[in-house]
Amino acid sequence: MLTQRPRGTTDLLPGEVERWQAAEETIRSVFRRYHYGEIRTPVFEHTELFARGVGESTDIVSKEMYTFLDRGERSLTLRPEGTAGVVRAYVENKLYGNPGLTKLYYIEAMFRYEKPQKGRERQFHQYGCEVLGADHPAVDAEVITLNVHLLRTLGLQDLHVELNSVGCGVCRPAHKARMIAALTPHRHELCRDCQQRLDRNPLRIFDCKNEHCQAVLRTSGAPTILEALCDDCRAHFSSVREMLESIGTAYEVNDRLVRGLDYYTRTAWEITVPSYGTVAGGGRYNGLVAMIGGPETPGIGFAGGMERALMLLAEQGRDLRAPTGLDVFVTVADEAGEPMAMRLLQDLRAAGVTADRDYLGRSLKAQFKAADREAAKFVAIIGETEVQQGSVSLKDLQSGEQVALPVSDIVSYLAEKVGVQS
Ligand code: ATP
Ligand code: MG
Repeated sequence: MLTQRPRGTTDLLPGEVERWQAAEETIRSVFRRYHYGEIRTPVFEHTELFARGVGESTDIVSKEMYTFLDRGERSLTLRPEGTAGVVRAYVENKLYGNPGLTKLYYIEAMFRYEKPQKGRERQFHQYGCEVLGADHPAVDAEVITLNVHLLRTLGLQDLHVELNSVGCGVCRPAHKARMIAALTPHRHELCRDCQQRLDRNPLRIFDCKNEHCQAVLRTSGAPTILEALCDDCRAHFSSVREMLESIGTAYEVNDRLVRGLDYYTRTAWEITVPSYGTVAGGGRYNGLVAMIGGPETPGIGFAGGMERALMLLAEQGRDLRAPTGLDVFVTVADEAGEPMAMRLLQDLRAAGVTADRDYLGRSLKAQFKAADREAAKFVAIIGETEVQQGSVSLKDLQSGEQVALPVSDIVSYLAEKVGVQS
């Protein structure tokens, strides 16, 4: 027990963590290019926020939340997704008072009680963004494009955009009634979850992973939401499509796509890699801000899983930037070299050079081996001779070239060699 992490969690160790850092850096830089600012919200929120904001009928709320009572008997929940917390922060901090759109992004840990399997963890990470304050279809087209751009910049290939509109408060009630009418005669053929969905939110039946439910749906004559859109939603959807076409972002319409969260209105999309499945998804949520108590404000956003993106990158044979190794390994030949070695090590680090040393009093040969193992670019050798002569021997491990330089020149020489800007 003491030496075992909880199911569905991961230790990211040095070696792997550099891939994450590289991916995070890429994601941040793409978000910055689109003029988004980062937001960091609490890991836990009041349970009610997710229950209302994500929706009682979703898998997330009905089966996957990490909910607990704190010592003050308040019900809190580890965030299962990012949007609800960001929207809560937007309202609480009155960001709607700022002029223009609010464009926010995050890269954070999420928690869902799921059956762990490949690409599915209980603590996982999402990158995502939210744009608050505009219903203009150009925003939808741009956010979808940004979603693809991010994944492409990470190096992912074979990305497909599936697009749908899930309507609004005007068209959904009529559609709901038509679905209930079409599916009620087939109620007993649906899975238990879908029988509940039929009562609470029939549109979600399109999201059921059970093949049989999908077959019932097809033969029942239940209309897709796309067929039942009101005029405004229909016009919005066709503008989004036109704008995607002018940008040159390829997509396919999938009229069965509804996405996992209850609060979506109008545009909904998923990005898939056919050999795997969904890697990211998003949608518009024009009712959410008002629903949690803010002013009527349209919003749109997406989220993607970091674990899945990194896993697919590895599978597609596209690794991220190799981990940055050590610039200099300082070997200490004998006791007499200690003071000079310590001083040099610290001066190198102060100048921005990555440096480390041996602390185990090992033989020079063993220290060189260690330098190799760490993929150090240079080895500095310091011992009694070097101290007496006031110089340091430097070996370039790639070329094998060795030089002796005055101590005072070492730092600037190495800083230039490894390309540190001071
Ligand atoms: P799925 O149908 O796979 O359960 P979802 O609809 O629950 O996905 P979203 O809530 O849309 O997923 O989350 C967006 C992305 O977050 C997913 O496309 C996926 O990449 C990632 N994701 C979701 N749940 C997990 C998890 N438990 N572990 C790892 N990544 C996850
Ligand atoms: Mg899920």
